[in-house]
Amino acid sequence: MEAPTEARGGMSLPTKILLGLILGGAVGITLNVMFAPALGAEASPTYVAVEWWADQIIKPFGDLFLRLLFMVVVPVVFCSLFLGVAGIGSVQKIGRLGSRTLLWFLGTTSLAVLLGLTLVRTIEPGKRMSPEVAAQVKEQYLTVAKAKVEQSEQAKNWLQMVVDIVPENVVGTASTNKGILGLILFALLLGMASTRLPPDRTQVMRELLESLYELCIKILGWAMQLAPYGVACLIFHATSKLGLPVMKLVGWYFVTAMGGLILYQLVFVTGLAWFFAGLSPARFYRGCRTLIVTAFSTSSSNATMPTTIRTAVDEFGVPREIAGFVMPLGATMNMNGTALFEGVSVLFLAQVYGAGLGIGQQVMVLGMAVLTAIGAAGVPGGSIPLLAVVLLQVGVPPELLALILGVDRLVDMARTIPNVTSDLTCSLWLARREGHALKE
Ligand code: ASP
Repeated sequence: MEAPTEARGGMSLPTKILLGLILGGAVGITLNVMFAPALGAEASPTYVAVEWWADQIIKPFGDLFLRLLFMVVVPVVFCSLFLGVAGIGSVQKIGRLGSRTLLWFLGTTSLAVLLGLTLVRTIEPGKRMSPEVAAQVKEQYLTVAKAKVEQSEQAKNWLQMVVDIVPENVVGTASTNKGILGLILFALLLGMASTRLPPDRTQVMRELLESLYELCIKILGWAMQLAPYGVACLIFHATSKLGLPVMKLVGWYFVTAMGGLILYQLVFVTGLAWFFAGLSPARFYRGCRTLIVTAFSTSSSNATMPTTIRTAVDEFGVPREIAGFVMPLGATMNMNGTALFEGVSVLFLAQVYGAGLGIGQQVMVLGMAVLTAIGAAGVPGGSIPLLAVVLLQVGVPPELLALILGVDRLVDMARTIPNVTSDLTCSLWLARREGHALKE
């Protein structure tokens, strides 16, 4: 597989992407600081012009890059899972890898929520917010919040959610972001079925999907050549509309959520990679630079998934069947950052609402944050409708989501990083346990 890491012109591609991130962010933040209006105030003509440029000119370029990444997700999920399961070979080994993968997902997701809950209980951001400020922020974002709550209506019935994982029509399910679990199930079953047939009966299928996979990775390589520009555009768009005034108003929430995510990434994910995969922090982050920047700028585990596979295989030497097995599952089901964010947000909003959640309810929040993180789609803001469901369950009005939506773009970018690095770390651990040496 060709590693799309080197760019022409001396500078390596990861360095160029990082530069794009810094440049896009710096210009966006500067313009925001200089011209963004205060909450509720009218925007100046200059800021209207900045917004016009950000929405009409810069965003389409960023979206072009994002869509190139999304474009290859369905074939890569399908091919890599089928080939992964078929390559693992025995149903016994698939079972072993599958149970360890699930154990990792559940263990790390619970750890992340626990950290989030502990931080909110310690810092108590909701109690530091005055009712007047809360009312002001709520009014500003209420319409958006109501739209999100409406989206969450379908997610209420848990049993139906489980039934919905099994697709009625596999082609139809692959066409929606929510239906990706159905595609995963189909690819897993096909891969398992292939281990039950004589190899010559499945040879053509394996060769065909192998070629399709290689072709998609080639396209991904081209897309990643555009990453420095695409990342700069996405970051500029996000930062120029950051809503710094609202960030100040919900400052304690923002600090708790971002602080928790940074702490979880730097201490827990790094520690897990060290402990379970034997990789020093320097080695781990040297291999994941492009992965982290892609996750941060796209806010999407799905869009980043082909890059996560490439990073595991090319940068760390994880066997392709293991990476191909873990990553599609992880991008959909393993969201440590999202779970942490959900725990923090629910408790924060309960504090603002004045609903003291007892230990029993906090345990319920923990369980629901883990489950909804599994169910959330790996797309920007994918977890918000499910967050509304958790709020309803603990008796907090879901419209209070309005309080956090103004800063969610940045929190979303940050939570997507542990979402994908935890998948990577899981594959590193499994590879090592199966006796494969990782690249030094
Ligand atoms: N943006 C997140 C992801 O794709 C999902 C979320 O938390 O909204 O991983």
